[in-house]
Amino acid sequence: MVSRVIPVDVFDLVIFGATGDLARRKILPGLYRRYLAGQMPGESRIIGAARSDMSDKAFREQVRVAIAEFVPKARQDAEAIEKFLGRISYVPIDATGTGGWTALKKMMRDNVVRAFYFSVAPSLFGDIAERLHDHGIADAWSRIVVEKPFGRDLASARALNEVLARHFTETQIYRIDHYLGKETVQNLMAVRFANILFEPLWKSEYIDHVQITVAETVGVNGRGAYYDKSGAMRDMVQNHMMQLLCLIAMEPPYHFDPDAVRDEKLKVIRALDPVAPEDIVRGQYLPGQGEGGYLEHSENPASRTESYIALKVQVSNWRWKGTPFYLRTGKRLRARASEIAITFREPPHSIFDDAKGWRENVLVIRLQPNEGMNLMVMIKEPGPGGMRLMQVPLDMAFADALGADAEDVPDAYERLIMDVIRGNQTLFMRGDEVEAAWAWTDPIIAAWEAQGNRPQSYDAGSSGPEDALMLMHRDGRRWREIRE
Ligand code: NAP
Repeated sequence: MVSRVIPVDVFDLVIFGATGDLARRKILPGLYRRYLAGQMPGESRIIGAARSDMSDKAFREQVRVAIAEFVPKARQDAEAIEKFLGRISYVPIDATGTGGWTALKKMMRDNVVRAFYFSVAPSLFGDIAERLHDHGIADAWSRIVVEKPFGRDLASARALNEVLARHFTETQIYRIDHYLGKETVQNLMAVRFANILFEPLWKSEYIDHVQITVAETVGVNGRGAYYDKSGAMRDMVQNHMMQLLCLIAMEPPYHFDPDAVRDEKLKVIRALDPVAPEDIVRGQYLPGQGEGGYLEHSENPASRTESYIALKVQVSNWRWKGTPFYLRTGKRLRARASEIAITFREPPHSIFDDAKGWRENVLVIRLQPNEGMNLMVMIKEPGPGGMRLMQVPLDMAFADALGADAEDVPDAYERLIMDVIRGNQTLFMRGDEVEAAWAWTDPIIAAWEAQGNRPQSYDAGSSGPEDALMLMHRDGRRWREIRE
């Protein structure tokens, strides 16, 4: 099956920070792939902007290199690349200065979608928003896209929201969380709300617990100074993992409509209990496998920032009371694997004498690598010899299901940028959601800072600190193995 391409309107997309890492690795190669898919209609254009003084030609060469590096070889079509580059121009602009804005204004056209991607440090969001407004570059239909991190606590997130709200309405602001652009994450909503099968079981009566894991093998090398001010709680839990938790725990929205979906997610965040200190394990990776440990990478030998965190979280409402959500994320772990596992309860009564092979049903949603879903079910072990049970996966790898190889499944950034052009905010975080997530996160961080909590060490290439195992064991449960 070839995936359907939904047409979008003609657009002008201005990328601030067009020479940066994110633009080079994700945004520009992603746009090329959308061009190939026929989603850059008519005279749609991309305008790069950053301080570096360079010509259109020089910037196009940078984009050409980025495509060569980050687009699979099989999708690199020389003729298409030339045509795509022909849609690209560049304007040198300092977000905090005066030069370049008039030139950008002259490039704007009427009757096309105007989108402005702020792929720069959040400290520049306010400067850019103000100048876009003051120079009349953004109109009432323009959209702005802002990158993470959206604040580092409630106060800074509020301040950012206020700065943007001075010049743009909430319907114009697209706060990116690229996890929401993943095929599997959207499929989670389809599985829950387009099937009758799961919804009757989707509650604490039938679900024992939920595990959300985001494991990385890489450390923070190169980003140590930035990461040391953030840590796993701010970098992963407050945003990506919180969003995943919301999609699992939310009530069915009345319609697949941006505010209906986001209203339901917000209710989940507001229903989160505070987390007790004994329900949190923080860790830092040790040197090993030929690389330095966190303390060397962070460049602060006394750092107490966590590169790993595990928490037991409770959503306090009728649906979820009594079903804990266990979250864990970390760097330098044994494998790169992100998944959600929903473990169902035991059947109320077993009719089989020999229940030795019996295991719980588990719905596993894999986010990376190999996006897909697995439903672990019990069957009879084949062959004679009586009724013995075994667990098998009902496997749905998306690449197989789509009949495409994995390279054809659009990257999260590609989808999300096209949603911006379509004006669909469903997969973007609303300002009140972000603030509610920080309101839950702040006291947790404040508590360990007040206690002088030190993260536990864990071996590089392991599953994380010992105490994280205990977090589950003491409840009579265990983490799923981290594997690709
Ligand atoms: P980066 O590599 O440091 O690039 C920053 C970009 O901003 C460069 O193009 C830089 O170009 C431009 N810039 C800096 N100061 C400027 C100014 N005063 N006026 C105009 N342009 C300016 O950063 P990045 O990794 O691409 O990240 C960009 C944003 O995305 C950040 O908010 C980051 O947190 C977020 N993000 C990045 C990633 C990632 O994987 N890289 C992932 C998630 C979120 P000049 O120096 O030429 O001006």
